[in-house]
Amino acid sequence: MDKLPLTWETMAARAGKGAAPLATTPTVNPIYQTSVFTFESLDQVDAAFAGQPGGYVYSRIHNPNHAVLETTLAELEGGEAAVVVASGMAAIQITCLAHLQAGDRMLVTRDCYGGTQVQFLQEFTRFGIKVDLVDFSDLEMVAKELDAGARLVYLETISNPLMKLVDIKAISKLAHDYGALVVVDNTFASPYVCQPLQLGADLVVHSLTKYINGHSDVMGGVVIGSGELLQSIRRVATNLGPTPSPFDNWLILRGVKTLALRMERHCANAQELAEMLAAHPAVLSVHYPGLTTAVDHEPALRQFCQGFGGMLSFEVTGGTEGAEEVMRALRLIDLVPSLAGVTTTVSHPAKTSHRGLSETERAALGIGDGLIRLSVGIEAVSDLKADLGQALDLLLA
Ligand code: PLP
Repeated sequence: MDKLPLTWETMAARAGKGAAPLATTPTVNPIYQTSVFTFESLDQVDAAFAGQPGGYVYSRIHNPNHAVLETTLAELEGGEAAVVVASGMAAIQITCLAHLQAGDRMLVTRDCYGGTQVQFLQEFTRFGIKVDLVDFSDLEMVAKELDAGARLVYLETISNPLMKLVDIKAISKLAHDYGALVVVDNTFASPYVCQPLQLGADLVVHSLTKYINGHSDVMGGVVIGSGELLQSIRRVATNLGPTPSPFDNWLILRGVKTLALRMERHCANAQELAEMLAAHPAVLSVHYPGLTTAVDHEPALRQFCQGFGGMLSFEVTGGTEGAEEVMRALRLIDLVPSLAGVTTTVSHPAKTSHRGLSETERAALGIGDGLIRLSVGIEAVSDLKADLGQALDLLLA
């Protein structure tokens, strides 16, 4: 067809349309920064709505950057399918809402991430979902709770801030005996360290904001599992709309490319720091499953694929003041209330994630005022040791 002669205004409005097609393939997947896709015909519309591969319609529903990230994450976690959304909280929300109805009961690990607990207790209960916090280390109690009726069991691979493990295999078996679905938040471990689907879990969620992106510069979340369980989760995601932008998907995929290398270093550095901290006289206790003396060392050897993760916590002498003195004296390691980036950071659970609890409640969970959580980065471990060493030595003066 001949081109119509166009006015200046129309040419401006259509800038970029009709760019020459590529004769070569971009080495890196490009960013499809478009909210919608154009069709040649109504037949093409029908094919796209019928699920034709590559038949994108609207970026809230799907976009090539979204799709390639979902396929990659499903493969890395050993699942059939994945749904990627704009934050870890959104991933948890769509996962549970897709599989729960008003009147259903869910069992949630007692020491799960504070934000998750608040989402369940403040928001889900408003819609008639019953939420009970359970100590999953007590399997007899878990069986009793399941016997009382539960549709969904919600766990975390490594707890925050005490890095405790639960027996995912045993709990999954028990939950399945009672017809309950098992959802595991694998954020603290990453699929490098642990793959809960292989241990019997039905669905895995991640805050992609953490290790999987790994650079503290984007938010994201994912749920991974069987194609069948993911169907209703995708429907809920499409209807509620927590879709990430093409650029965020692209950034996370870029992060994934170095996940194995980063995790290898996170784990090796954490192991060395945990051993160094355990030997320091100003440290009362160290929580890291890689320590052979840790109660969770054996379970970690059984459940983890490799390494013991990059997260640890330790209690210093002197309570809050002791912790504050150490954190203030650190010259390299910043105080940051998040985790899993390439630089090492500290946080103080009593004043951040667990500040809503009284001192007695925190003590009952084993979270002392002198507890410092360390998200171990990928720097040279000698620099990290020097920084922690000089800060801790001040407590001996
Ligand atoms: N799960 C865990 C274990 C977390 O630590 C967090 C956030 O810190 C979340 C989920 C929520 O993820 P996001 O902040 O990406 O919404």
